Amino acid sequence: MKNVQPQGSHFIDGAYVEDTAGREIPCVYAATGEVVATLHSATPAVIEQALASAKRAQAEWAALPPVARGRVLRRVAEILRERNQELSELETIDTGKPIQETTIADATSGADSLEYFGGLAATLTGETMPLGGDFVYTIREPLGVCVGIGAWNYPTQIACWKSAPALACGNAMIFKPSEVTPLCALKLAEIYIEAGAPAGLFNVVNGYGDVGAALIGDQRVDKVSLTGSVPTGEKVYAAAATGIRHVTMELGGKSPLIVFEDADIENAISAAINGNFYSTGQICSNGTRVFVHEDIVDTFTARLVERTKTAIIGDPMDPETQIGPMITDTQRQKVLNYIRIGQQEGATLAVGGGCPERDGWFIEPTVFTGVTDDMTIAREEIFGPVMSVLTFRDEDEVIARANDTEFGLAAGLFTRDFARAHRVVAQLQAGTCWINQYNLTPVETPFGGVKKSGVGRENSKAAIEHFSQVKSVYVALGDVEAAF
Ligand code: NDP
Repeated sequence: MKNVQPQGSHFIDGAYVEDTAGREIPCVYAATGEVVATLHSATPAVIEQALASAKRAQAEWAALPPVARGRVLRRVAEILRERNQELSELETIDTGKPIQETTIADATSGADSLEYFGGLAATLTGETMPLGGDFVYTIREPLGVCVGIGAWNYPTQIACWKSAPALACGNAMIFKPSEVTPLCALKLAEIYIEAGAPAGLFNVVNGYGDVGAALIGDQRVDKVSLTGSVPTGEKVYAAAATGIRHVTMELGGKSPLIVFEDADIENAISAAINGNFYSTGQICSNGTRVFVHEDIVDTFTARLVERTKTAIIGDPMDPETQIGPMITDTQRQKVLNYIRIGQQEGATLAVGGGCPERDGWFIEPTVFTGVTDDMTIAREEIFGPVMSVLTFRDEDEVIARANDTEFGLAAGLFTRDFARAHRVVAQLQAGTCWINQYNLTPVETPFGGVKKSGVGRENSKAAIEHFSQVKSVYVALGDVEAAF
C-alpha cells in the first residue's frame, strides 16, 4: 500500500495544519482492515483558524471579476482530469470502492462540476424591472462563508459538488468530510491552491460529528450544505435555524424502481443492478424497492439472480473487480442485520446474503424476492447491496405504493409506453426520476429530494439559487410624494 498519510489533518489558509491534541482518526482501508493513515479531529483552535481565514478569503474572492473566478474553477477541473488515476486510487483507498468505478465516477464527476460552474460564474447577473419611469435592478450576491459536510460514499464528488457552485457565486467554503473518508477532500484543497484560488477560500477541517456541529454553531457561517442521513439532517437544520442561516439538505432515500410488463427486461435488470449494487449499494438514490409487474416477475427474477451470481467481488485495486467492501465493519454489520430481519419477516433470499471469506468488510450482492410493503427491508434505508423485489398488478396501485414512504429522493420506471411513463412520473413523489434508466446524475441536472430526503438542489443552474441571494435596488427618477 502506498503512503497516503497527509502532511497534516486539515488544510487551512493554503497549507496543511496539524494539532495532535485532537482525538485520533484512524483511516482504515476497507478492503484489508489496514490502518493507512492517522489524522486528528479538529480542535477549537483549528476550527477558529478555518473560520477566520475563510471569512478573509471570501471578501477577496468576491471582489474578483466573475470571469477570473470561473477561470480558477476551470483550472481545477483540468487538474482533476490530469490526475484522475492518482485521485481515483486515493478515492479507492479512502472508500474501498473498486478502481473500475472510481476512475469514471469520482474525480471525473467532480471535474464536470468545476467545469460547469466555472463556465457559469461569469453569467450570474441580475435583472432589470422597468416601472414606467422608475425601475428596479437586482444584484446576485454571495451568501458569505458556507460549510459543506459530507457523507462517506463519494468524498471527492461531494466536496466538488458543494464547493464548485459555492465558489462560483463568490462564497468561501469550509468542508468537513466524514471521519471515515478524510483523505480525498484534502487533495482537492491542494488542487484549489495550485489552480490559483486564494488561501482560505476552500478549507478542509477533518473531525467527528462534533466538529461539524461546532462549525455550524459559529455565526460567521452563512450557509450549510449537508449530505448525510435524515437524523443528522434534522440536527444540522435545527442548528442552522439559530441565526436563520441557509441550508441545503441531501439526505437518505428508499426509492422505487418500477418495471412494467412491456419493459425491456434486460435493460431493467441492468438498471436494478446499477441502482442497487454500484458502490456496494452505498448510494442515497438507489432504487432499493424494485416493483416488478406480476406477469414478468419470474423471468425478471431468474435473469437477475443469474446475472448477480456473476458479479466479481475482490481487490478494489484490480480493474476486473466489480464489487468492493462496505465502508466499515459497523456498516457491514448493520446491513447483515437487515438481511437477518428480511429472512425473519418472511422474504425469500434469492441470492447472496453472506460474506466472502476474505479480509475486509465484504458482503455479497443480495436479492430478496416476495417482499411486501410492510417489511422492514422495504421501509428503511439499508445503505448496502440489498435489493427488494416486490410485485404489482396495476398502475394506480404501484404509484400509491411507490409513494408510501417518508423519503422522496428518486424514482425510476421501465416501460415502452411513453404516455404511461410521463403519466406515472407526474405522480411520483421524488426529486429525480428516470425513464428507462437509473442513477445517472449529470451536472446539468438538478439533484435533491422531496419529503424527508431533503431541501434544496445540487448541480445545474438550480444550485446557484442555493448559494446566492438577490438584492433588489429601487431607482426613483422623480420627486418623492408624502402625505404631509
Ligand atoms: P451521517 O448523517 O452519519 O453523517 C453525515 C456527515 O454529518 C458526516 O460528516 C458526519 O460526521 C456529520 N455529522 C454527524 N453529526 C453531526 C452534527 N450533529 N452536526 C454536524 N455534522 C454532523 O451520514 P453517513 O456519513 O453515514 O452517510 C450515509 C447517509 O448519507 C445515508 O443516509 C445516505 O442516504 C446519505 N446520503 C445522501 C446523499 C444525497 O445526495 N441525498 C448522497 C450520499 C449519502 P461524522 O461522520 O464524522 O460523524
